[in-house]
Amino acid sequence: MVFVPKTIGILGGGQLGRMAAMAAFRLGMRVCAYTDEEDSPISQIVPFTFVGRYDDKKKLQSFAESVDAITYEFENIPVETIRYLQKFKPVYPDDRVLEIAQHRVSEKKFLNDIGIPTTRWAVITRAGDITRAMEDMDFKAAILKTSRFGYDGKGQVSIGRGEDPKAAWKSLNTTEAILEEKVAFTSEVSVIIARDKLSQTAIYGPILNEHKNHILAKSTVPAPLPAHLAEKARNMTLLLAEAIDLIGVLCLELFVTGEGQLLANEIAPRPHNSGHWTIEACTTSQFEQQVRTVVGMQIGGPNRHSDAVMINLIGDDVDRLAKYYEQANATVHLYGKLEAREGRKMGHITMTTPLSAQPVMLDETISEKVVLN
Ligand code: AMP
Repeated sequence: MVFVPKTIGILGGGQLGRMAAMAAFRLGMRVCAYTDEEDSPISQIVPFTFVGRYDDKKKLQSFAESVDAITYEFENIPVETIRYLQKFKPVYPDDRVLEIAQHRVSEKKFLNDIGIPTTRWAVITRAGDITRAMEDMDFKAAILKTSRFGYDGKGQVSIGRGEDPKAAWKSLNTTEAILEEKVAFTSEVSVIIARDKLSQTAIYGPILNEHKNHILAKSTVPAPLPAHLAEKARNMTLLLAEAIDLIGVLCLELFVTGEGQLLANEIAPRPHNSGHWTIEACTTSQFEQQVRTVVGMQIGGPNRHSDAVMINLIGDDVDRLAKYYEQANATVHLYGKLEAREGRKMGHITMTTPLSAQPVMLDETISEKVVLN
């Protein structure tokens, strides 16, 4: 029998795509990228990249025809692009998942409809809606966020009770936003799940996430949560993956409140920055799960064999790397970006502490189903 390697198509040119490509290469796959940027982190390492707009149908069709299955590495790709590509090849997670995750209102509504609690929220289409919602819902403090295209704290602004909302509304420069009650959280955590076409799942986390200037700075696993809360966070993520019929990888970000409540904040329908440690600390990384599930392979065991801390290298943090090159338990990742602009993710460091000589499965789980292929 001749082994024919699969070719995976990755939409988006950033570091998440680059790390997925690296995982694909190790499994003998081929990778073709599609991005609207020249000299992107992914194009530096894959043999061929289509550089074009996300509405260039001719180019998108050529891309789809060169691959077996397609995924994406950021969620701000137009849903129409995914629907168009689906005419030619499977795309995972599919257009339904992307459509929900891309829009903060549909995301919160979906979560609430399946019984996953979030902070209280209201849809805003003009400044007057803000004052009314603050009063009707008795919000003392809130955060106004654009419905689409927000990331790393961009497209959001805090509002206090009694403040004139006009400036906040104007600053977002949008026609639709969501007003969320500000959560007095004690910590932020995330859970990452991979699910294959046979509905087998692998779960990583919860992971403790610490932010600086709204950008993820540090992730720690295991998160220091009571066992019942950790279990609840994993169950919520599993419920979400099943309800949305996920094929691929997604991350659920959650707030932990002082009263021990878990409130979902956001769904990322792809590997997540808070899961980079899975490369060094697990048998199968989040990126390998993504490429496996997208080309139709079964998921791998997530077995975490080390505790881990991941720190992001943001902006000029990259100038202070020397100590990590010498640290025995530190692995340095750089994304090939030439210019260290403020707030730009340039790389990350993962530090691991092995758990034992035996393979262990602590909080991560893989569902037990017999797989034939
Ligand atoms: P997001 O873009 O929704 O992930 O928000 C970025 C960060 O802003 C989160 O990681 C939180 O630190 C903070 N944040 C977002 N929404 C809320 C909220 N409703 N209450 C309190 N903090 C929030």
